[in-house]
Amino acid sequence: MTEQNTESESTTSCGCKLGRVSNQYGLAELDDDLVARWTGKAEQQYSTRKLAKYVNELVLEQALEEANVAAKEGEIENTYRLLTDDDVSSGTQVQTRNELERDGVPVEEVESDFISHQTVYNHLTKCLEASLEEPTDEERLERSREKVGSLQNRTEAVTGDTIAHLERNDILDIGEYNVAVSITVTCEDCFEEYTVRELLDQQSCRCGGLSD
Ligand SMILES: [Zn+2]
Ligand SMILES: [Zn+2]
Repeated sequence: MTEQNTESESTTSCGCKLGRVSNQYGLAELDDDLVARWTGKAEQQYSTRKLAKYVNELVLEQALEEANVAAKEGEIENTYRLLTDDDVSSGTQVQTRNELERDGVPVEEVESDFISHQTVYNHLTKCLEASLEEPTDEERLERSREKVGSLQNRTEAVTGDTIAHLERNDILDIGEYNVAVSITVTCEDCFEEYTVRELLDQQSCRCGGLSD
């Protein structure tokens, strides 16, 4: 690391393990990167589990670089897997650690610097005050209206097709007809009956409105 930027220190001065590790390994831009990946502003949205793996692989990469170990394509990822994956035999893990140590990588230290997904979550929400955007109540209601609406349309269409098919085969006799599907919801406390649409619009039955 040749570039020393004193101004950026204030942005990574949180006291948590991730902040410390990020400073120690010189992972500049990590905070912005994490927020972008977590909130989905980057091209792909990451879970905190995937982010923890992402950070830990950067830590491992940095540690190898500092020990002047040239890593081939995919090697960091593979080494991280060998060190941490439960499916890897303990013999293989020991061997991987020994090889790294022989190359001058302080394995124990590096492994103790690995962070958990919980640390990532706390760092994002507490230190960086980031949050995943929740849909508003109105957005949720609108989505529900669309969902139920398309279900109704589909039921009407399938029913219409079924009637038409039977009529064509002279199994059923009917004049001009019209299919309508209406879904109702009844509160078993106040016995009030609503169409789904009414209920979604009112957001409460009669007793729900009374109780508060
Ligand atoms: Zn932090
Ligand atoms: Zn009710």
